[in-house]
Amino acid sequence: MAENMNDNIPFFKPSFSQDEEDAVLRVLRSGWLTTGPEALAFENEFSRFIGGTHCLAVNSATSGLMLAYDAFGVGPGTSILTTPYTFASTATAARHLGADIRWADIESDSYNIDPNRIEEALKKHPEIRAIVPVHVAGLPCDMEAICYLGKKYGKAVIEDAAHAFPSRTPGGFAGTLGDAGVWSFYATKTITTGEGGMVHVRGDEAEKRIKLMRSHGINRTIWDRYTSVQASWVYDVVEDGWKCNLPDILAAIGREQLKKADSFLDQRSKTARKYAEAFRSCPSLELPPDGTGNAWHLFLLRIIPEKLTIGRDEFAAELQKQGLGISVHFIPHFELTYFKKRYNLTREEFPCSARRYETTITLPFWPGMSEEQEDRVIRAVISTADTYARS
Ligand SMILES: *Cc1c(COP(=O)(O)O)cnc(C)c1O
Repeated sequence: MAENMNDNIPFFKPSFSQDEEDAVLRVLRSGWLTTGPEALAFENEFSRFIGGTHCLAVNSATSGLMLAYDAFGVGPGTSILTTPYTFASTATAARHLGADIRWADIESDSYNIDPNRIEEALKKHPEIRAIVPVHVAGLPCDMEAICYLGKKYGKAVIEDAAHAFPSRTPGGFAGTLGDAGVWSFYATKTITTGEGGMVHVRGDEAEKRIKLMRSHGINRTIWDRYTSVQASWVYDVVEDGWKCNLPDILAAIGREQLKKADSFLDQRSKTARKYAEAFRSCPSLELPPDGTGNAWHLFLLRIIPEKLTIGRDEFAAELQKQGLGISVHFIPHFELTYFKKRYNLTREEFPCSARRYETTITLPFWPGMSEEQEDRVIRAVISTADTYARS
């Protein structure tokens, strides 16, 4: 069917087919809805995909971050170190544990944490327990430098890899490079279960702790209780755990999405190349940083305000007027009331984050965009840039 030119182009569309529908029906008809054989299979298949061990399915990346922080000693009297240029829950997951947050600015030429700023912060704040790099938009952070600093100062490195599946670096998949890594399967992420996440963790002790805390601090999994020869009602609560398990209906969707992860990535990469080709010659536009292992979760286009008569907000509004679903990643923490109030954060402390925030627009971008949709996005961006060019 030909695309109606009046149709709005969404910011993102999940890519499902008969496969996901069949998977959900299979679980519904099995009679086992909560965490069980599908979640186990998802964990095993995901582990195999990334060539690692110790993958644990969770009900969100936020839960996964909290569990990983907890497993590496983040709690009262400690803090995590991340950037203001991330989603709120990278930081609030530490607050759930009674820990505090420290921030370091991003690099001047990317959206990722600056290793030099990390070292400054570690020297100044010895209570930092974990460094939390965020692979923004799927571009891996400088993990070699970050892991070196983690070792040098005796800190855990916990990757917020919410955007970065699948992201292959020379050292392995982003998310498997630190002590722990967490991917998100939220509705708009690169593969999705609606809500969900996966934790990769190094070390048997940390893995055991996460398994326990993921499920009420109960020393047996629910599935084990109903399949083992030991009476199903026998269990003990050995810690004050949470409830962060991924139900089988969602895990079954995840297993299908996993099979398509590389094909989704190919499609997103192709659209990214097409956008880059189209915008490269436009003097008021700056392409997103690219590099090895980019998972291309988002296409973050920057405008150069000095070369335009309008700012980011007007530029974005103009694109919306032309039917484009756009977004902004991220509103940095120093712009959000909770962080401003509790930590007295100011934009002046984070010039690189502030500058990027003021100039970045996230374009419509998902695997399976039609060529017409890509072309309409390109036309709208170029015509807006031309119309408002400063002469
Ligand atoms: C989406 C996101 C999260 C949270 O993921 P959920 O699965 O929704 O909890 C954390 N960090 C970043 C950078 C994200 O974009």
